[in-house]
Amino acid sequence: MKKGFFIKTLGCKVNQVESVFIGEALGSAGFFPSSPEEASLLILNSCVVTEKAEAECRKILKKWAKLPARYLVLAGCYSQRFAKEAKAWAEKQGIKNLLILGHQEKLKLPEILKKLEQTHSPKFPVVMVGKLPEKGPCEVLLLKSFPSHSRAFVKVQDGCNRFCSYCIVPFTRGAPRSVPPELVLKQIELFVQAGYEEFVITGIHLGKWGKDLSPRQKLINLLEAIEKLLSSFKKTFHLRLSSIEVKELDKELLDFFKSSKFIVPHFHIPLQSGSNRILKLMGRDYTREEYLVILKRLHDIFPSATFGADVMVGFPTETEEDFEETYKLISNSPLNWLHIFSFSPRPGTKAWDMKPKVNPEEIKKRYQALKRLFVKKRKEFLENQKGKVVSAVLEKSSNKGWKALSENYITLYVKGLPENPELKGKLVKVKLVEITEELHFISYPV
Ligand code: SF4
Repeated sequence: MKKGFFIKTLGCKVNQVESVFIGEALGSAGFFPSSPEEASLLILNSCVVTEKAEAECRKILKKWAKLPARYLVLAGCYSQRFAKEAKAWAEKQGIKNLLILGHQEKLKLPEILKKLEQTHSPKFPVVMVGKLPEKGPCEVLLLKSFPSHSRAFVKVQDGCNRFCSYCIVPFTRGAPRSVPPELVLKQIELFVQAGYEEFVITGIHLGKWGKDLSPRQKLINLLEAIEKLLSSFKKTFHLRLSSIEVKELDKELLDFFKSSKFIVPHFHIPLQSGSNRILKLMGRDYTREEYLVILKRLHDIFPSATFGADVMVGFPTETEEDFEETYKLISNSPLNWLHIFSFSPRPGTKAWDMKPKVNPEEIKKRYQALKRLFVKKRKEFLENQKGKVVSAVLEKSSNKGWKALSENYITLYVKGLPENPELKGKLVKVKLVEITEELHFISYPV
């Protein structure tokens, strides 16, 4: 077969790491990246976190089915959770060249293709979806580089067993499994050698890191080891956590953040709802009061940080009063970045059957109200940042200057730097000067 491949990744940072691994594995087997039109292998590393994401996967596959590729691959969360449904759908659509691969199988794509090429008239769609392991360690995905990214994502953990009532992830990703610390450190070393200066510690449920290892460990142990390693290079780096649950932000971790030379002032702490009644129905293990206390502690340490949160509107039974509680909590808190979701019923979860469901028009209204609040809070935050000097990682040179991401998660355009592509991924100190309409900052090197 011809060896051009194209990978499309949907969903989380963990999926992005896994796509890079698939790309490297294919590269070692003689494949090369190509456009979708010319590729003989089209891979969709899928996401089913919402109905919308699921529909997007089918839309992409339908579009790809019209291209001349030899194989289409549906990999990841869609296959892991809905293999049977995906098979029936592909048959109905007349898609004759589809491979449906689970999480473990997608990592062995080159071997699977080799076998397939040797099989006399294989039966499509080919379904290869195994059970996910129930305990760690997590499979090793050592990457040499993180192509087309200016920041390197380091996968340290997979899986979750919290079973929040709306969330399909425990069914698609399985039980929590940790990457052993020595391999995390090895990965960071490889990325440092490849020239990266920002590392994003990534997992499905980061706070679960280490609990399945023997001896049992905690996320703080891993972060301290990373801090020690980074210190040994005698350079400046950014160390960012992708997301952390509020209950996992204990005193030890806050003390570590305070003393760390590398942790950046950006924290993403899922909120989901500001109503204690809804939080309970969601199966979250904190109250609005507890959330606010921790957030305030962090804000006292990092007054210029971006504090982000996932927030869901329209969870079954959510009343106007429940929503008001969410709205007020966000209004009166240091939160200044929101990832707003509309409730999406996911098969197999507890919330699937919960009633009454909120009227879709009402959900839209609540979504829009939060979006407006987000813009207002973000503007206020940015106004406060004017004139400050921050460290930022350079992402892409453009006609507006170098696009960059500040330590405190502000998108910037840095003026006055050369276009040299080798600057990509490097850290620079800049002064925040002017806010644009898109809520970015025009900035200048200092
Ligand atoms: S903690 Fe809850 S929301 Fe997060 S991945 Fe686990 S089940 Fe899903």
